[in-house]
Amino acid sequence: MSKKIAILGDIHSNLDALEVVLADAEAQGVSEYFCTGDVVGYNACPHECLEIIRSLGCPVVKGNHDHYVASEQALEDFNPYAAAVVEWTRSQLDEEELDYLRTMPFAVTRMGMTLVHSTMDRPENFGYVFDNQQAETNFVYQKTPVCFHGHTHCPMIYEKQLSGVYRIDPQDFILKPGRKYFINVGSVGQPRDGDPRATYVIYSPEERKVSFRRLEYDIEAAQARILAAGLPGRLAERLAYGQ
Ligand code: ZN
Repeated sequence: MSKKIAILGDIHSNLDALEVVLADAEAQGVSEYFCTGDVVGYNACPHECLEIIRSLGCPVVKGNHDHYVASEQALEDFNPYAAAVVEWTRSQLDEEELDYLRTMPFAVTRMGMTLVHSTMDRPENFGYVFDNQQAETNFVYQKTPVCFHGHTHCPMIYEKQLSGVYRIDPQDFILKPGRKYFINVGSVGQPRDGDPRATYVIYSPEERKVSFRRLEYDIEAAQARILAAGLPGRLAERLAYGQ
């Protein structure tokens, strides 16, 4: 059986979603994990999610929430809901956990593939890739044929051909030789493409096959945790809509 890698990110402290994703990955025969960052933020289980991701022993890149939770920086780039959770998350983690977040790399290359949270042009700036032009800039700095990322919470495949960049909606897809791919793996813990189900990707390098997984999880349980923690109710509501 060929090797399968699960690529997951934007978990955002959503333990209920993360557990479902990892159970699915195991059932699918995944033997390796890559994490595209934003382990914390928005939901109510930062400690548990960090512990689980660290126990996988996999490469993890730094997301903007990981970055801001671990720094003393002001949060002017954040909307007020996100800023409230960043402050709350800081108060929930111990120094060792904050140190782990602080020392995460911005980008990692493994097995000829790159992992980044946002984009390869200045990954520390956490720019968003929503269109072909933004993807085109990324491809200038993407040295490997395949790069996985997250950040927008909207799964997507960007394909670079000589003639330009093309967008391919998330689906089972065989990567073509001679082209470059920048693949957004969606979000485990707070999908924003209108589908509230948890998302991640399974990649089989030998077949060059990408599969997007969408999984129902106990959204009400995740919502109850947000409210019990005293976090903004809006963060609980949005989980139900996938926004
Ligand atoms: Zn995120």
